[in-house]
Amino acid sequence: MPGSRGEDCLLAKAARMVVEGKAEEAVEMLSRFYGVLPPRLKVGLPKRCRNALGCYTPHNQTIYLRSSREYRDPFVVLHEFYHHLRWRLGSHRGTERHAGEFAARAVTAMAEGVCDEEA
Ligand SMILES: [Zn+2]
Repeated sequence: MPGSRGEDCLLAKAARMVVEGKAEEAVEMLSRFYGVLPPRLKVGLPKRCRNALGCYTPHNQTIYLRSSREYRDPFVVLHEFYHHLRWRLGSHRGTERHAGEFAARAVTAMAEGVCDEEA
């Protein structure tokens, strides 16, 4: 349930998977949880996203990451995943601030070891 401790637990897990280089698995797991189709992930930015660390393009549902470093950065991957989520849910694009808060929540949950005791 969104906003629940279970969600924090999942976000912590997803952030850790990204750090471990399993970003695809992380976004697949999150997509299942939120009931949306998973985004594609690609390393390398298209022209229109130059100077960004990451970029989401809704027409092909793809998250682009600048390099293999961003591919393992949960702040970047989860920020872009949030944009995907908002698009798929059809509500609104989601503000940058909300995307940043979503990613920060995941990284904080990871750092605090949420649910580690249950692993
Ligand atoms: Zn953004």
